[in-house]
Amino acid sequence: MAEQPRRVPASTDDEHALVLFSGGQDSTAALAWALERFAGVETVGFAYGQRHSVELEARRSVLAGLRETSPAWGDRLGEDRVLDADILGQISDTALTREAAIAYDEQGLPNTFVPGRNLLFFTLAAALAHRRRIRHLVAGVCETDFSGYPDCRDDTVKALQVTLNLGMAERLVLHTPLMWLDKAQTWQLLEELGGEALVALARERTHTCYRGDRQHRHPWGYGCGACPACELRAEGWYRYRAMRGREPE
Ligand code: ZN
Repeated sequence: MAEQPRRVPASTDDEHALVLFSGGQDSTAALAWALERFAGVETVGFAYGQRHSVELEARRSVLAGLRETSPAWGDRLGEDRVLDADILGQISDTALTREAAIAYDEQGLPNTFVPGRNLLFFTLAAALAHRRRIRHLVAGVCETDFSGYPDCRDDTVKALQVTLNLGMAERLVLHTPLMWLDKAQTWQLLEELGGEALVALARERTHTCYRGDRQHRHPWGYGCGACPACELRAEGWYRYRAMRGREPE
């Protein structure tokens, strides 16, 4: 009699992780963190009508760079997927999806904020993790440099973990290794995880600028230098270098 295929229980695998990876500095640090901890790491990104394809290009470049930086990480890096989240473009009117100036509303929320964006991303990633039988989700969200994104808060992520596990009958674990780090400490984490090579990789290849500027090179990387994302990144870089007793460049 033919042997019945063994039914694999959902999300019991502690060896693998799925990282929400945008190609930015924070999700690159979260990805390196996962590569140090898990035997296999898959990545997922979301295309949602970004004004610039710069972000998606940065993802490819960073993934290639991680393979060059560490053969061990290269072995652990698994499949990369970009899911279509274009629907966000239909329900938002922000500087990320339209040609508009960066501005802040009366609550201090930047108009780059797509309401519930990370809630949607986590939910899509959890569904993918379920399909892939991956238990651990990793994201580079943090609330220390709180930029007005309420779905990056620790309480939000913890509540969402409970909700996803109830709603999907899962035992998913949502890891947020950057939650209590500021941007200087994130550069520090990159150094701890991958030395100067990973710092250089993050500096050259990751992208955070809201305007998608890859023309202007600063000590902290490429960007317009004036948008809130560039200001945050620059401020973190200079503080990190000062902390380490080094020149900015
Ligand atoms: Zn910028």
